[in-house]
Amino acid sequence: MSGVGMSGVLVRDVAYGGGRGDIRCTAGRIAEIGTGLVLQAGEEEVTGAVAVLPGLHDHHLHLLAMAAYRDSVDLGPECVASPGDLARILAGAAGAPTAVTGSWIRAVGYDASTGGELDRWVLDRLVADRPVRVQHRSGHLWVLNSRACALVGLEGDVQPGVERVDGVATGRIVDADDWLASRVPHGAPPDLAAVSRRLASLGVTGVTDCTPVHDVADLETLAAAVGSGALAQRVVATGSIDLAGAGAPAGLELGPVKVMVGDLAYPSVEGLAATMDEAHGRGRAVALHCASRIAAVLAVAAWEQAGPRAGDRMEHGAVLPFDLVARLARLGITVVTQPGFLFERGDRYLAEVEPDDLPHLYRCATLEAAGVGVGGSTDAPFGPDDPWLAMRSAVTRRTRSGSRVGPDEGVGRARALGLFLSDPGAPGGPSRTVVVGGTADLVVLDCTLARVLEDLDARHVMATVARGRVVHRG
Ligand SMILES: [Zn+2]
Repeated sequence: MSGVGMSGVLVRDVAYGGGRGDIRCTAGRIAEIGTGLVLQAGEEEVTGAVAVLPGLHDHHLHLLAMAAYRDSVDLGPECVASPGDLARILAGAAGAPTAVTGSWIRAVGYDASTGGELDRWVLDRLVADRPVRVQHRSGHLWVLNSRACALVGLEGDVQPGVERVDGVATGRIVDADDWLASRVPHGAPPDLAAVSRRLASLGVTGVTDCTPVHDVADLETLAAAVGSGALAQRVVATGSIDLAGAGAPAGLELGPVKVMVGDLAYPSVEGLAATMDEAHGRGRAVALHCASRIAAVLAVAAWEQAGPRAGDRMEHGAVLPFDLVARLARLGITVVTQPGFLFERGDRYLAEVEPDDLPHLYRCATLEAAGVGVGGSTDAPFGPDDPWLAMRSAVTRRTRSGSRVGPDEGVGRARALGLFLSDPGAPGGPSRTVVVGGTADLVVLDCTLARVLEDLDARHVMATVARGRVVHRG
């Protein structure tokens, strides 16, 4: 693999925003920019490029879930257009067990609008003789067939989130991932190296993992992958309020504390404000998951009660009525948005979202005009993992079928790129720059910066340098 054993990188003759020259990366930093630099022993040379950008930072994704997706049956909208497709794919998956999931079939990306409504009895008609668990594409719902229900002890448990009708478990489990994970068999460890390679191919050199994990072991899994080099990117992790006082395992940086607002049940404003106070008291900012209008209203009210802290952010801000925008601006809260959802889910939004809410979906331009900082992310694996797709969506606001969601919320091309160039600690802040002394995180491009803006496409990523090493060559 390229970069192994190399002690530095020399990128030849590229435009970098501030000018043009050779860029030398040493010990994870940009050591020198100049013309005609001499290749030194142990340095890996990158030639034939045209320009570089600072490495992209995805401000919100889920690394372990991305790894799990790779070992799962894909029921996403590209694979399942009808309940018939769902039946065919699950039946096909009932073949050979995989190393990772054993006899279990783990399927992801399911959406009722294409696959039809699911419960244990519908799944039993598709696969009865092997345990099946199907994750909704939102990541918040699992549906188990009866065999799986029996294996995890669903009937006898009073776990919150286990849906019951007349006392009988339906196989549907909402927001109880930790509980479910403790009851399903664990196979091979997740392949984070494959996730890292995929991200590197997209020019992503840093990520913020926004999973509200309760168990420090999950952070240690990420830290170990950074330490071994399996994860080449810079990794910032959030964790839930339970881990607010825990230190970061070596190799990881700690970001804000992730707080879910709603989905299972909405918290009180007072409860939410108390959680904010606790995180702030421990020197941590908060990142509030707000995927509905109610969640956003509660979050803003809680911030007004607890007071904001630098680095506080709202994740998704999926539905933001305009009066909330002004209040977010006064509070100085950044919104971390996922324009890629407009492409992937936009047609469904247009069909299903309340007409009153449509103008408020995944705002971008009005946030910026009001002075609210906006950072970009993909929410992979629950949204498409390609930040360039998200950038194009931020500009065009187009859905998969070509319709547009809130076209007035579109931003310019440079701004769309900037959503992924901000510092991890300030997602709504200015773009990082390629400068001597800066971190050696670079997207090496096969074309001019002007052309990249025109296309906003990952195909122009010729190589990626992360933490001073070449981690991808196209
Ligand atoms: Zn997320």
